[in-house]
Amino acid sequence: MNRKSFVAALQQQYNTYREPYFTYRRFKHADLQPLIAALSPDKGFAVKQLGFSTEKRVIHHIQLGKGATQVMLWSQMHGDEATATMALFDIFRFFSTSDELDSYRKVILDNLSLHFVPMLNPDGAEVFKRRTALDIDMNRDALRLVNPESRLLKGLRDELNADFGFNLHDQHTRYTAYYTPKPATISFLAPAYNVAKEVNPVRERAMRLIAAMNEDLQGIIPGQVAKYNDEFEPRAFGDNMQKWGTSTILIESGGYPNDPEKMYVRQLNFIAILSALYAIAQKEYEQYTTEQYWAIPDNRTQLRHLLLRNVELNLNGASYRTDISYDVRERTKADNRSFYYESFIDDLGDLSTLYGYREIDCTHLQVSLGKVYPEEMYSLEQIRKLNFSQLIAEGYTALRYKGQDWQEKDVPADIPLNLLRGNHTQPDDTIGIERNPDLVLLEAGKVRYLIINGFVREVNAASWLGNALCY
Ligand SMILES: [Zn+2]
Repeated sequence: MNRKSFVAALQQQYNTYREPYFTYRRFKHADLQPLIAALSPDKGFAVKQLGFSTEKRVIHHIQLGKGATQVMLWSQMHGDEATATMALFDIFRFFSTSDELDSYRKVILDNLSLHFVPMLNPDGAEVFKRRTALDIDMNRDALRLVNPESRLLKGLRDELNADFGFNLHDQHTRYTAYYTPKPATISFLAPAYNVAKEVNPVRERAMRLIAAMNEDLQGIIPGQVAKYNDEFEPRAFGDNMQKWGTSTILIESGGYPNDPEKMYVRQLNFIAILSALYAIAQKEYEQYTTEQYWAIPDNRTQLRHLLLRNVELNLNGASYRTDISYDVRERTKADNRSFYYESFIDDLGDLSTLYGYREIDCTHLQVSLGKVYPEEMYSLEQIRKLNFSQLIAEGYTALRYKGQDWQEKDVPADIPLNLLRGNHTQPDDTIGIERNPDLVLLEAGKVRYLIINGFVREVNAASWLGNALCY
């Protein structure tokens, strides 16, 4: 029995513990209730109502274990940061299961009392926004406690005088592990408790535990762990938890290639948190040092959605070379459960210090604006009869659409071209900051790639991860 084999087993057997309900991030408070109701006292769960959100959604306190060390774990204080909530339900399933890992379960539950508060900001989650129903950032409310949710979190900490706290968030996918192309898929922080960023035994314990978690994750995602900026924020919960005497570990779920709903990042949370609980139960964190914590690379923001290097452009008859980076924004749709992408150019010039989840070197490519297919289209049905592969090979990126059967801003996933409605005769035709032009990348006179809404569409590709837009 050791942490390393525990981590290996959790990784290998993850699918047997994964809560199958979660397949996307914009789930709601109501979706969690049947899962919480199913947590049985026979399996050791004690479920209590901690209190209510501003909009009167019940916030639960789920307790497990009978040990002397009090550990709190809360997720989704920011309503649109849902990754760890899914991981907590995976952890509930892990503890509801009986298998060859029972000896690990026993060590954790004999030594620790676990207190989970999943989805601390259900009102924000309802519309997938960061802030609470009061439009106050809960993570700037640890002193005033204006939000009822803030008072519940502070109240539980004080009631337990918690030894450890796991503060579970999501960060932007553009974060990297220092100045490398690797995404900071998981970032950690042992928050500072004062401006001088001093280290006392409470913070030191969090640092040592993070060093252990980092070691666990390096074996799974080498080079993709970073540490968050430890500038003291007097109003934040993590910083104050540390000040109040709870060793606090911030986990930020970042980006991972081709994982738009963060299902793999969720799995990493599951593994890292369970392994940390074992490390607390066995006091293994004492074997790690603050130096190992400081050696974790700092978070930087070097990653973009798409990076085109060495693009030759022309202006007023003169040509010049530039790199172009596109970033992408998720737009939540009216159902508040699904989303589409809208991209924009976020920088031009020498971007040699940046990286892209997708990069194309355009040194030997000719780059021009996309073309508009001349024929007018009157329905999606008519559009779907077009030969998209052929249109793409000819450099068309947009269609004139005079129909009435589609009103949304995004284009159905099976149609890879932008739609120009009403009086729009051109898509965005400016290659500049905050613009979203379609591009055609030619190699030796032949279309090699299209860039549509910031996503790369390769000629002959059957599908893509992006979506086109209706203008
Ligand atoms: Zn957050």
